[in-house]
Amino acid sequence: MLSSPLNARTRWKMLWRKHVVPGRVVNLCFLIVLISSTLLTWREVVVLQDAYVASHRSVLEKAAVAVDKQMQTGVNLLLFYRNGMQAAMHTPLSSDLLVNVQNEFDRVRRSPQWQINVEKRRTLALRGVSDEAIAQNPLLNRDVPGLQNEMTAALELGYVMRLSAGFPLAPAQTWYASRAGFYLTSGRFISVPGIARQYSALINAPWFIGQSQRENQARGIRWYSAPLNAADKNSGTVIASLPMDYAHYWHGVLAVEFTRDSIRQQLEEALKEEDTGNYQLYDDQFTLLISSTWDKVPVSTFDDSERERLTQAMAKNTEGSLRIGTRLISWMNLKHYDGALLRIHTLREGLQDDFGTISIVFGLLWLLFTSMLLISWFVIRRMVSNMYQLQHSLQWQAWHDALTRLNNRGALFEKAKRLCDLCSQQQLPLSVIQIDLDHFKRVNDRYGHQAGDLVLTQAARLIARSLGEDDVAGRVGGEEFCVLLPGKTLAEAVEVAQGIRMRIAGKEILVNHSQTIRISASLGVSSAPEETDYSFDALQSIADRRLYLAKRAGRNQVWSVDDEEPSPSK
Ligand code: GH3
Ligand code: MG
Ligand code: MG
Repeated sequence: MLSSPLNARTRWKMLWRKHVVPGRVVNLCFLIVLISSTLLTWREVVVLQDAYVASHRSVLEKAAVAVDKQMQTGVNLLLFYRNGMQAAMHTPLSSDLLVNVQNEFDRVRRSPQWQINVEKRRTLALRGVSDEAIAQNPLLNRDVPGLQNEMTAALELGYVMRLSAGFPLAPAQTWYASRAGFYLTSGRFISVPGIARQYSALINAPWFIGQSQRENQARGIRWYSAPLNAADKNSGTVIASLPMDYAHYWHGVLAVEFTRDSIRQQLEEALKEEDTGNYQLYDDQFTLLISSTWDKVPVSTFDDSERERLTQAMAKNTEGSLRIGTRLISWMNLKHYDGALLRIHTLREGLQDDFGTISIVFGLLWLLFTSMLLISWFVIRRMVSNMYQLQHSLQWQAWHDALTRLNNRGALFEKAKRLCDLCSQQQLPLSVIQIDLDHFKRVNDRYGHQAGDLVLTQAARLIARSLGEDDVAGRVGGEEFCVLLPGKTLAEAVEVAQGIRMRIAGKEILVNHSQTIRISASLGVSSAPEETDYSFDALQSIADRRLYLAKRAGRNQVWSVDDEEPSPSK
């Protein structure tokens, strides 16, 4: 094997040609375009999705603010009531009216149920139960030093409660339930026989019991959801309560109560224009209180695992979004309420709004682009493959002889020049064999031109089979061939030439379906070191001369010397 910088370059070229085929380049380009367009579309979709989630949440925020406003009113009222009562207990009013209340209370306190209704057009009635009833309940106590003050303060609160009933966003009902066996409410009038039942209901309600010093050590506002009536989904109420303490003693509980319906109305008002999706208000136990679509469509609900995922996510963040199946769920905790508002959007609703339409358009555009890309890839790939084949075949034709498939004259001369330079550089021998078929004209004359062509093809094949990997053979004339043997000395070249001669002479060639013939060839061999001239022209002309000598000597011979003596190598 020859090794040379020239050869290495040639090998690189061959490698490049082998791997960097136009078809693969086209495939790669299209793949890059397809991946890039898909990535770009994907990115756009992600941006769009983020915008969709953000807009989803901004509408939710609007709704949450509206609901929260109502809750805030409740909170403010409670704080105002408690501060007012504490102030009133601290500095009690001293008027005849209040003395009357005290006298009246002393008169009725032993009755099972009673009502003190002083100035009924300005303040609210005090209603209560008997001393005996109180004695039976350990939570209650009437023997409190400040009882007188508490009652007068409650009456003063009654003034304010009456006035605040007409407030915008005012609660449906407000309460003050005392542990001393009386209560006050802005609610509708109840006849005296119902008072004991109502008081008992109040002090047994979770919003009252939950405000004991042990249950509510922080003494802050707490929210409760009154169970709803199954028949009427808007019937239940939401209650905020606050303990009324004074001088380290727990006197009673203040409460404001909103109907779920009023909260839902508030929600509906905030969502007048943006009514897609379902809004749901949950309390801190994840109990559904309100759904904006109760009247229209079935309420979106969650199974146990969905609930679990949602509550876990909600525990981590006060607001956020989560995709559960095909639904997008955003939540936002309310500032003034122990609960959260959820917005639930189904895939169908999502697709119907602007973001959905844009996403569909994007998807279709991507599909169109991708199909056009695939079609053009297919067409270009075919075109390139055809052109590549054509170029290959033209190239082959330009460098080869079509009949014998050996190098043509031009290609052989080109390669010879390069091999001469290479062998000269590396001081390697270079041999040349000139071959001419003997009496070939007779073959043509006797068996026809076609048979002649067949003989030429066979001879070329036999020559090619006799050569090594680095050797080069070509057809240089009608029935003349030339072989270049880089790295081979004259003696080695003569051996190769003999091999060729013997193969040709020994071959029976079928020229038509019944006849076979035998031919022979004369060969002249020359070698470079011997002449120390690496010029191919010179080498070829020496080999030619020796070929002529071989002919003269009787043909079917190999000549490698210039004298007239018959070659010993015949
Ligand atoms: P010699 O032994 O002296 O070489 O005798 P020859 O007949 O082989 O030599 P000559 O040069 O007189 O004849 C060569 C012939 O080869 C002449 C031509 O008709 C024939 N020939 C040249 N090219 C082709 C070819 O492509 N196909 C065929 N069939 N014959 C060809
Ligand atoms: Mg000839
Ligand atoms: Mg000839």
